[in-house]
Amino acid sequence: MSPGAPRPIFDAPVAAAHAEDLDLRQQQQPSDCTRARDWIDHAERTITLIDYGQSVDNMTRTVLHELAHYCDPVAGERRATRGDPVLEIVAECAAWLGGDSVLGLEMTDASATYVAAWLEAHDSDDDSVAQVNEHTSQVAKRLEEALVTPTSTP
Ligand SMILES: [Zn+2]
Repeated sequence: MSPGAPRPIFDAPVAAAHAEDLDLRQQQQPSDCTRARDWIDHAERTITLIDYGQSVDNMTRTVLHELAHYCDPVAGERRATRGDPVLEIVAECAAWLGGDSVLGLEMTDASATYVAAWLEAHDSDDDSVAQVNEHTSQVAKRLEEALVTPTSTP
């Protein structure tokens, strides 16, 4: 992180989203909602956050996860990530790395729980684990660049 005045932790991913011309929207959670809480729409270039009274740290973790989907060229091609264990694991691991290394945000509890849940849904073998690792490292690099670039200008 660059030196200077402390900034709210939420600013960096929001600035990164805006720099990528992504629009952040907030919605109240409908009472009958069973879908994923938050999502990115690659075609509309929007990230939608459901407001359920979560902390700023948790909102930041969510934006990082959705930004990681944006930074994933495979997710961008498919334009729908929900329900794909590999894309969810890649996004969360990249968010975990970026949140921890760039923002200094504690990510482990939330990320480990999320990844463990998706791992149960994923049939893995050694080859696919190696591919997921390579995929994650590409997405994490793009996410970290997106997080650092908007804050590098005064
Ligand atoms: Zn996701």
